Amino acid sequence: MPLLRASNLSKVLRVNGNPFPILEGITFDVNDNEFVCIVGPSGSGKSTLLRMVAGLEKPTGGKISFTAKNGSSDVVVSMVFQSFALFPWLTVMENVCVGLEAKNVPKEARVKTASRYIDIVGLNGFEDAYPKELSGGMKQRVGIARSLAVGPDLLCMDEPFSALDVLTAQGLRDEVLTLWHQDELPPSAVLMVTHNLEEAVYMADRVIIISQRPGRMISDMTIELPRPRDRKSPEFLDWVDQVFSKIV
Ligand code: ADP
Ligand code: MG
Repeated sequence: MPLLRASNLSKVLRVNGNPFPILEGITFDVNDNEFVCIVGPSGSGKSTLLRMVAGLEKPTGGKISFTAKNGSSDVVVSMVFQSFALFPWLTVMENVCVGLEAKNVPKEARVKTASRYIDIVGLNGFEDAYPKELSGGMKQRVGIARSLAVGPDLLCMDEPFSALDVLTAQGLRDEVLTLWHQDELPPSAVLMVTHNLEEAVYMADRVIIISQRPGRMISDMTIELPRPRDRKSPEFLDWVDQVFSKIV
């Protein structure tokens, strides 16, 4: 069984008493060791879909099921947000500890695990800093450390680089891919939402394309480009074109 199976998911909101369909017939799998991107235009329901996968929102119809490597359905899912979603009154260390605290990890173990991930994302020395003292890129590193610290099987990321300047975003993409390729680190799989087609082709093993609202499946493409990928190569640009041509 795949790590995540989303079957015929739909979401309908009620707006002024009328049904307002957001997503329809969304079906896809995410397997262990896969990096999957969901792309679609703004307002197509991407964030809603990711929130449903992360258990932050309920689908109106369809089913989401998880199967860990050991066969259990007990799977840890964590989330990285576009807006970083840090607590401004907490330090870097305290922000990274938040998820561990929610899991009732004792203080000493919490600090040990959080320190490890603060190191991994390159923020050692900033443990006692507050979010307002950090650049956007550093804030997102805190968001990533916080998500990794809980040892997720599936890491969900909602436009994690969209609020960053171009150079910072590209640096952090490469760092995320480097972390991703370290087998001893979580997660098993990544599900990332983006409206940036080039970013999706750069990072993903598979790209799922959804339509304008109500978001429906347009395509589920395997990106057959060797890594590391060269964003300037003709093959890369050809893949970006292929994804683009499915949308327009
Ligand atoms: P995306 O992330 O692809 O931009 P979203 O999942 O954020 O899309 O939203 C999909 C659609 O649902 C948008 O048209 C948005 O305006 C609408 N929407 C989302 N949440 C609500 C809500 N609580 N009330 C009304 N409309 C909503
Ligand atoms: Mg969104």
